[in-house]
Amino acid sequence: MRRYDVIVIGCGPGGERAAIQAARAGKQVAVIERQHVLGGTRVNWGTIPSKTLRESALFVHSLTRNKLEGIRCEIRDEITVHDFMYRERQVVQRELELINESLERYRIEVFVGQARFIDSHTVAVCGPDGGVLTSLAGDFVVIATGSSPNRPSDVPFDGESVFDSNTILGLPHMPKTMIVLGAGVIGIEFACMFSVLGIEVTLVDTRDKLLPYVDREIVAILEREMGRLGINLLHNDRHASIERLPGDRPRVRCTLRHGGAFESDSLLYCVGRDGNTKGIGLELLGLEPNDYGLLTVNENFQTAVPHIYAVGDVIGYPALASTSMEQGRQAMRHAFNIPGLPSKTETLPFAIYSIPEVSYIGETEEGLQGKGVEYVVGRGDYDMNPRGQIIGDTGGMLKLLFEAGSMRLVGAHQVGHGASELIHIAQAFLRAGASAFQIAETLYNYPTLADLYRHASLKALLAVQRQEAGGSERRR
Ligand SMILES: Cc1cc2nc3c(=O)[nH]c(=O)nc-3n(C[C@H](O)[C@H](O)[C@H](O)COP(=O)(O)OP(=O)(O)OC[C@H]3O[C@@H](n4cnc5c(N)ncnc54)[C@H](O)[C@@H]3O)c2cc1C
Repeated sequence: MRRYDVIVIGCGPGGERAAIQAARAGKQVAVIERQHVLGGTRVNWGTIPSKTLRESALFVHSLTRNKLEGIRCEIRDEITVHDFMYRERQVVQRELELINESLERYRIEVFVGQARFIDSHTVAVCGPDGGVLTSLAGDFVVIATGSSPNRPSDVPFDGESVFDSNTILGLPHMPKTMIVLGAGVIGIEFACMFSVLGIEVTLVDTRDKLLPYVDREIVAILEREMGRLGINLLHNDRHASIERLPGDRPRVRCTLRHGGAFESDSLLYCVGRDGNTKGIGLELLGLEPNDYGLLTVNENFQTAVPHIYAVGDVIGYPALASTSMEQGRQAMRHAFNIPGLPSKTETLPFAIYSIPEVSYIGETEEGLQGKGVEYVVGRGDYDMNPRGQIIGDTGGMLKLLFEAGSMRLVGAHQVGHGASELIHIAQAFLRAGASAFQIAETLYNYPTLADLYRHASLKALLAVQRQEAGGSERRR
């Protein structure tokens, strides 16, 4: 039996980064991956493919939104999703090359097969028939098996008219209408993309408010902008039945629990994802996933068996490629006492690639109120920013939260063009412990959306001045 310092199960972003972090510290690492391609959901079925489609959608959006005199944008009837994703193969191919290069550089051994625990230090690599191909022993094990779309038995997935998030990008033709069930991040992102590409979208949110963990002002702007795209957003409902309708082209009828019924060319079901924990022998270790197949870990990503770590989608929220990678690194830093900057999930940046996009980092108003921390809000509106005017995005907003007194930046929330990139300015300011004065005194290129930081900080400082002069903008 081969022996390793670490065995990593699953080679998505979480597993890959855990493996590289340990190997960089000179550890012997084996990775077991059940697919014949590495990269997991990030490269093959989720992040990269969906963002490639989104880039085409943004291109169409900028042409249609700005309505330039003399330029007409028209989408041919016979166009397919595949046509819109013409760069996907190149991007995926390059990502796969980079992953393979990194694993080779650090001499990480990759085994193809389904991983199954034999005991807490031994993992079998199994073939498609379940037979054991080889067994590996490790001092530490990282479970990074990711998640899969939830596929309830009453939803007739067929890859023709009814899809999940793994199959939607294989749409055989562009539908005219689409029902998206589930308004989490994935549902919202697809609803925006398809709407911009000319599809009439109905988005059904199972909750009574969209994205409950995101700043409410930001969500209100997002909802308004989604309405402008033509998305019909329904809250607090879910499907009662879904049936495929006969005809030349497949169609589907979806009846909702609160009585609404919709006929549509296509239906995307994306209510929840389940952790990939079935069949890996967790019962032998006494590890019990929850009802959604998710594992519980402590702040160091250790499961109840201390030398077995779990990272990424398999531990649930926030279930992003970026956070999965960071969790993989943190887990291995903990296992091998490798020094590095500590980072808590709450202090990592988040992005939702809706149209317009949303991004945030640090404290929320609710969080500060819960802790009894006084704070000051500063807002920068795209409408007041020349770059916002030039690009035709006048609906966006940057909202900064400062601790009252010190005026230190503690949180940033943004909706609008470029939010997923611009939030990293807040990340740098947060790390540096910058105050509203310093952010306002910083010089930004002109005209840029980055200048919103100056604007929002000045607004916060102005609010304090007003408060000192007798008003009250300070919140508790
Ligand atoms: C449509 C969509 C869009 C997304 N967009 C974004 C985005 O824009 N930004 C972002 O940050 N995140 C995005 N995500 C989320 C992101 O893709 C995931 O959070 C991330 O891939 C999770 O990484 P992971 O390593 O935990 O799991 P995964 O990427 O799912 O990888 C797990 C790997 O483990 C393997 N595996 C599972 N079980 C076994 C086993 N028993 N033995 C061996 N191998 C096994 C799987 O084959 C897989 O390769 C998106 C997801 C989807 C579905």
